[in-house]
Amino acid sequence: MSEATSKTIRLIITRQEGPKSAPYEESFDVPYRPNMNVISALMAIRRHPVTSKGEQTSAPQWEMNCLEEVCGACSMVINGRPRQACTALIDKLDQPIHLKPMRTFPVVRDLVVDRSRMFDALKKVKAWIPIDGTYDLGPGPRMAENKRQWAYELSKCMTCGCCLEACPNVNSKSDFMGPAPLSQVRLFNAHPTGAMNKAERLHAIMGSGGLASCGNSQNCVEVCPKGIPLTTSIAALNRETVVQGFRDFFGSDYI
Ligand code: SF4
Repeated sequence: MSEATSKTIRLIITRQEGPKSAPYEESFDVPYRPNMNVISALMAIRRHPVTSKGEQTSAPQWEMNCLEEVCGACSMVINGRPRQACTALIDKLDQPIHLKPMRTFPVVRDLVVDRSRMFDALKKVKAWIPIDGTYDLGPGPRMAENKRQWAYELSKCMTCGCCLEACPNVNSKSDFMGPAPLSQVRLFNAHPTGAMNKAERLHAIMGSGGLASCGNSQNCVEVCPKGIPLTTSIAALNRETVVQGFRDFFGSDYI
């Protein structure tokens, strides 16, 4: 027996043909099935792209990959909140359900955005641990268990962009890199091997677009789907950059 019922759900999607096109809204009615998420509703629209007014239209575009809130690709603004479409369950959303692209990033088409500014920021802060060669370097230094535990929490970042979308200081007129890349600086500086490049990473966030652009609105920590303590990271980095500033001035032999 089919699980489908006669109930329908309504989605209002903000669409956009291309990066420079004007946005517009289209509304769709989708047959309800138990346990649907926003992705399955979008897939139903894609199979039958007809608006609530009965007009044939193009299939809305969106990105998705892992479907288990690990890749961050399906981030969009759902009923006013930036989050992943894969974990947005229809039964838990008020209707009609409004889907919009994250406006902090340039819109490519419909719900697809270009998150390059986040990846560029990760490059700027060197959010990786450089190793010399591909040969076996051995197990490396151990991390204290309490440090490993909080560092693990920071490592859950999936570069989804929700924290940048929620931050009032990240926008097209600002070069602020946003909370996620900052938190990655704290993560990689905490690693025993990554600490070798600590000063380099701190210098990258002491300049334009770095820490000083944070207005401490604390929206980021409210929306992060992984519960990453972003404001704690930012506070810790504020302390570390002050110490780095003294080191730069007096020389690292003295501090
Ligand atoms: Fe997404 Fe959280 Fe990472 Fe920001 S810190 S990009 S909200 S996972």
